[in-house]
Amino acid sequence: MLHDLVIVGAGPVGATLALALSESDLDVIALDARPAGSIARSDRSLALSHGARLIFERLGVWKAVAATPGAVTPITAIDISQRAGFGHARLHAHDQGVDALGYVVSYRALQHALDAALARADMSIEHGVAVTRVSATAGAACAHVVGERHGAAVEWSARLAAVADGGGDVVNYIARRRHDYRQVALVAKIASTEPHGGLAFERFTDEGPIALLPEGDHYGLVWTTSPENASALVALPESKFLAALTLRFGPGAGRWTRVADRRTFPLALEFATRVVGERTVLVGNAAQALHPVAGQGFNLGVRDAYELAQELLAISVITDRDHFGARAFLAAYARRRSVDRWSGIAFTHGLLGLFGADVSMLRWPRGLALTLFDALPPVKRMFTRAMLYGLH
Ligand SMILES: Cc1cc2nc3c(=O)[nH]c(=O)nc-3n(C[C@H](O)[C@H](O)[C@H](O)COP(=O)(O)OP(=O)(O)OC[C@H]3O[C@@H](n4cnc5c(N)ncnc54)[C@H](O)[C@@H]3O)c2cc1C
Repeated sequence: MLHDLVIVGAGPVGATLALALSESDLDVIALDARPAGSIARSDRSLALSHGARLIFERLGVWKAVAATPGAVTPITAIDISQRAGFGHARLHAHDQGVDALGYVVSYRALQHALDAALARADMSIEHGVAVTRVSATAGAACAHVVGERHGAAVEWSARLAAVADGGGDVVNYIARRRHDYRQVALVAKIASTEPHGGLAFERFTDEGPIALLPEGDHYGLVWTTSPENASALVALPESKFLAALTLRFGPGAGRWTRVADRRTFPLALEFATRVVGERTVLVGNAAQALHPVAGQGFNLGVRDAYELAQELLAISVITDRDHFGARAFLAAYARRRSVDRWSGIAFTHGLLGLFGADVSMLRWPRGLALTLFDALPPVKRMFTRAMLYGLH
């Protein structure tokens, strides 16, 4: 059977794509390795832009996420500074006429809301299906699974395969690049004597950025450091860890009282050199996985999914289904996503070039950049708009 679209991976991005097509008469099937009702990863906090919230509102899932206790924390201001250097900037939501610059959202709550909405919309989803590879010919793409069912190979064919597996691992005909930052992110939950009041901190240090994001009744810490230092920090007793954080982060967010759930993960920029191939399109982290410094990665993925859905809906009413996944269609989609995608990658990587390195000569220009940035309302507004809606 030839479907219109097979979605490989129904995580937050693949599920967004499926949901955005749920009111069409397109024949869509989504496959996910995780069992029904579970999430693929341990819970983590996603940095969601205002623009991504608007997309989830349009898809009818935002209310359910926001109603989940502790699942959504609005970021009302962001304080940006550098350690051991001058320069300081603060962005406020009210300057932009919005309630929040962005949101810290629980991956688990968002996935559950998306899964529930897909079930209500009666979308075809096969859980517990780990696709081993996607192949493609000029006429169709095919998602394969190892093994047989009733004596036949288990596979799903479609005019187009959208790969949203979080890594692009199932496709071997689209090249990928990886830049290893040789650093890790140490993440943890931190409690302070001061309520956060929606204020987030981004502090650039000589080891790399430290972010503190308001998250329920505590802060979510993302501390960029060397793998060796991170291992030592994770092993420290609580009081020593909090003392080390105070020393590195400095004042501004009250006195730290507790730390929980310390984990580390390696930091890299990984992206596909092109987001389309024969009858195939990559979306979300399968297309690009960014350093978390600017909170752009997940939002870029949500826009990939939503814009692909809009293109598919538009073409389905004006032309016959075989144009789905045809080269001209895919080339046009790739062109449309290009500015948003490359500016997200370049912005994140460039920010790390300017602020991430231990180059004391850069301290002065960095301070100047932050001071000018704070003193020049149009520049500040432009940057804040990028945080709110993305860089396109
Ligand atoms: C360690 C780590 C920490 C992160 N921390 C943050 C953070 O603090 N804030 C933030 O904003 N972003 C963070 N991110 C990025 C964020 O997690 C991603 O942007 C987001 O998860 C991308 O969503 P996705 O749907 O593209 O991929 P994923 O969330 O990875 O979902 C992929 C889905 O595909 C399914 N799947 C995978 N392989 C297969 C297969 N072979 N066959 C079928 N199904 C498959 C999985 O079960 C899963 O449901 C982090 C990423 C990593 C790796």
